[in-house]
Formats: sequence, structure tokens, C-alpha cells
Amino acid sequence: SNFDIVKTVESCIESSKVGLLKQVDFEVHSTLDNPIIYADESHIKSVLRNLLDNAIKYSNSPVHITINLDQEKDNVILKIKDNGIGIPKEHLSDVFDMFFRVPSGHLHNVKGFGLGLSYVKQVVEQHGGSVSINSEVDKYSVFVISIPNKKI
Ligand code: ATP
Ligand code: MG
Repeated sequence: SNFDIVKTVESCIESSKVGLLKQVDFEVHSTLDNPIIYADESHIKSVLRNLLDNAIKYSNSPVHITINLDQEKDNVILKIKDNGIGIPKEHLSDVFDMFFRVPSGHLHNVKGFGLGLSYVKQVVEQHGGSVSINSEVDKYSVFVISIPNKKI
């Protein structure tokens, strides 16, 4: 169905904040004037929740979210950037595998099953999109999601 991706991001942020013990600021920037996309809203919401939960779990405030179109206006590009523990280069391609968690001792006081990102990748690819990641240890992680911008 059609939905406003910026509104959806904002409502996912609000629900991510519920029950949080730490103070996390989220900054959303969008350059879309007509941010309606055609996708499965409940799955996209779960994708956003998973990425926001990770940004909260593995980092400190603030979390930056941008929503743009690519140059050809064919895809909606969603970036979620945190200022966190980062992911070692050698594990960047592993994090989308089921049950994979970065094996880094003290950093994993944080609970998880290692399933969130495999779900994210599956949903995004089912929508004809792609997900990529960039990170620097102890600095940041940024997840970039590209979803076809279906004009109807
Ligand atoms: P689950 O999402 O199933 O509750 P999880 O968060 O451990 O558990 P994923 O979301 O699939 O699993 O992430 C896999 C691993 O990638 C994490 O365990 C963590 O090591 C690393 N990771 C994911 N997101 C980030 C991030 N924003 N910053 C640093 N490391 C991350
Ligand atoms: Mg997770």
C-alpha cells in the first residue's frame, strides 16, 4: 500500500523511545516533497524498528536519520547513522547472516539473537531494494536502505 515514509519513520522513532532507560536524541532530515512510497508498511516499520533498536543498543545519542531520493529519483534512500561502537571491517559482510553477532567480549552486555539484520535484508530485498553498511570502530555505523520509489 501507499504510505508517507517520513511519518512512518517519525512514528517508529516515537515507539522506539518507549521504555528507554537512556536519553537518545533522534534527528530526522528529509528532502522529499512527496514522501509517499509503495511498500508493505508493517514490514517496513519492522525494518525501521530493528535499525533504530540497533542504533540505540550499540551507540550513544544522537542518531541521525536522512530520507532522500537518489539522483534518478528511482529509489528512496534511507540512512540511519549512529555514533556508536562500530563494526570491525572484517565483520561488515557477516552482520546480515542469521544469528551472527560481532564477537567482541565486553561490548556484548547488550542482548540480542543476531536476527534483526537478516530480517532487514530479507524484507528490503523482497521489495526490490538493497541494504548496505559502512562503519568505523568506536566511531559510527551507517545503514543505508534503498527502496524503489514506485510512482503511481
Ligand atoms: P536482535 O536484533 O536479533 O535482537 P542483534 O541486535 O544482536 O539481535 P542484528 O540486529 O542482526 O542482531 O545485528 C547483528 C550484529 O551486528 C549485532 O549483534 C552487533 O554485533 C552488530 N551491529 C548491528 N547493528 C549495529 C550498530 N548500529 N552498531 C554496532 N554494531 C551493530
Ligand atoms: Mg538487532
